[in-house]
Amino acid sequence: MGGLFAAAFLQRIGWEAHVYERTGDDLATRGAGLGTHDALLEGLRALGIDTGERLGVLVRDRICLARDGKVVARRTLPQVMTHWARIYEALRPLVDGAHFHAGHNFTGHRRVGAQAVAQFEDGTEAAGDLLIAADGLRSTMRPQLLPEAQPRYAGYVGWRGTVKGIDLPPEYYFGLPGSEMMLTYPVPTGEWNYVWYRPTTERELADLCTDATGHCHGTAIAPPLIRAGLAARLKRDARELLAPQLATIVEGSQPFFQAIFDLESPRVAHGRIVLMGDCAFVARPHVGMGVTKASLDARCLAHSLEVSKDLDAALERYDRMRCEFGRWCVERSRAIGAYIERRELPDPERVLSDVGAVRADIPMSY
Ligand SMILES: Cc1cc2nc3c(=O)[nH]c(=O)nc-3n(C[C@H](O)[C@H](O)[C@H](O)COP(=O)(O)OP(=O)(O)OC[C@H]3O[C@@H](n4cnc5c(N)ncnc54)[C@H](O)[C@@H]3O)c2cc1C
Repeated sequence: MGGLFAAAFLQRIGWEAHVYERTGDDLATRGAGLGTHDALLEGLRALGIDTGERLGVLVRDRICLARDGKVVARRTLPQVMTHWARIYEALRPLVDGAHFHAGHNFTGHRRVGAQAVAQFEDGTEAAGDLLIAADGLRSTMRPQLLPEAQPRYAGYVGWRGTVKGIDLPPEYYFGLPGSEMMLTYPVPTGEWNYVWYRPTTERELADLCTDATGHCHGTAIAPPLIRAGLAARLKRDARELLAPQLATIVEGSQPFFQAIFDLESPRVAHGRIVLMGDCAFVARPHVGMGVTKASLDARCLAHSLEVSKDLDAALERYDRMRCEFGRWCVERSRAIGAYIERRELPDPERVLSDVGAVRADIPMSY
């Protein structure tokens, strides 16, 4: 997403931008739900993308349900919820085939004069005035520049899934069993998306990431390799711990999970290389900022190049603004998830208001 946003915004100010993507297959078949923010919608419109009805579903209320299905807290806070693929499909055509290079696995970089050169696994290289690393949480670039900036495991995972055929009024629901947090909302594909945050020790995470052959994949595992017994256990827990309306959603899904990490980079501009999106800062998903942050990073880079007198001044501006914003996102998301990490009991009113407040407070500057 960050790479596509960057290419699209840079093209608009007259730069030639190429995107190199490791994956060869169609990414639009992946992803799940995400919340939008005004900054994201405004950024999409600035790129000429229609943010009308097809993009998202408007939910008005946030409702917390107790185990017996009764409402324990409610707050009105309209938000458009979308699907990752809807944004990806809107952005992808903005970069034409001559500038989008699928199946290119970035491995290293070097400098040649004032130019930065990206090196790929197949032995090819690409040189430019600027090299933008938008290769996500598990970046190949970041450890080469900032070996000390390591993702920190937050002590819990988010089980996720989508399911069709749910008959619930289209609102944003929460369930808060013990020190956990389950949330669910409708997305424009006609499905319901859920995320269920559950405290998980490092040892338990290693077990979740172990496939049926006994091989442990580290701290992440491809969804098809998740052991069937783990999904069955999640569904059993859903029946025991969640409101019946929420349990049905988990039971009807094919669950997968992501471990939750915090990541902060001390700098995001390094000579002619910049870090962007999840490569630079990762905030826990409670602030729902992943895509919005990537769009603001890209917009800030293009704006800095447009308004600054030279490239170095532009990159300094980018570095200052994105570090400030990235730290804000990480801090806010950490505060919302702190009770899960500490295994404390949450106050439902407080959870709804903290999650909601982020939308109003986001610094939109770029
Ligand atoms: C397929 C997919 C589905 C997602 N679904 C959701 C979702 O449903 N909800 C949500 O909130 N967030 C989702 N995300 C995460 C979300 O896109 C990011 O949090 C956010 O958009 C920041 O984007 P990013 O570009 O910084 O990182 P990412 O979106 O993670 O993109 C990084 C990209 O870099 C590529 N890459 C990694 N290493 C290399 C390399 N060495 N060489 C070349 N390319 C490389 C990856 O294949 C990926 O396409 C998804 C990400 C992906 C890739």
